Amino acid sequence: MSRSKIVAGNWKMNKTLNEGIEFIQVLKESMPELNHTKVVVGMPFIHLASASTHLNGKFSIAAQNCHHEIQGAFTGEISAARIQSTGAEYVILGHSERRQYFKETDELILKKLRSALDQGLTPIFCCGEPLDIREDDSHVAYVNEQMENSIFQLSNEEIRKIIIAYEPIWAIGTGKTASSAQAQEMHKEIRISLADNFTLAIANDIHILYGGSCSPANAEELFSQEDVDGGLIGGASLKTSDFLELIRIAESIH
Ligand code: PEP
Repeated sequence: MSRSKIVAGNWKMNKTLNEGIEFIQVLKESMPELNHTKVVVGMPFIHLASASTHLNGKFSIAAQNCHHEIQGAFTGEISAARIQSTGAEYVILGHSERRQYFKETDELILKKLRSALDQGLTPIFCCGEPLDIREDDSHVAYVNEQMENSIFQLSNEEIRKIIIAYEPIWAIGTGKTASSAQAQEMHKEIRISLADNFTLAIANDIHILYGGSCSPANAEELFSQEDVDGGLIGGASLKTSDFLELIRIAESIH
């Protein structure tokens, strides 16, 4: 079976409006012809509406969070319905920074997943273990529990629409990447759990991205693993040259 690759950027809380739009313009002009790779750029809410006016079918845009209610008196929050109205098609949910700094629980993330799906957005669901859990060798059980409490509660129809990003927390923004063997091991475990909870066909169709200090220097080896379908990229998504190189690598591996 052959799944396409996905290269998804996550700018986090970086770039002014002008810097973001400049990036999008360069990306649009420089994007190579792609036959096997999907490109998504995750950006702050402020960029979404302007960035969507530059879309040309070669890439899509993502928000990095949403509120679980559709609308109402939630000052300062942005719902999936509002994101959808900008032209964005994706939303990153359950990122470890949201879990850590904003105390997002699996249960809250499940509400957000359902809301995003109801509004026609594709969630990029993040999971991954902290360093002590990895050192204790209980990373598989930890990630399974994160999934059990959230995405495994979805229906067969809903789960087909999500993308999973495995992001070991000890590798995010640290320059320390999981080895390709560590990434493959966990991605395979995730796929086995998907097959156990849904169907083998669903497990084989779902894209599982790797995230954690992924860069042009290590992407080829990571993206070549059987169950690694691309990457969720933080730091290396901020520079167009690095991001374009990651896209070229993904496209060349198919
Ligand atoms: C991320 O935050 O999703 C991420 C993978 O960051 P970095 O690539 O910088 O480790």
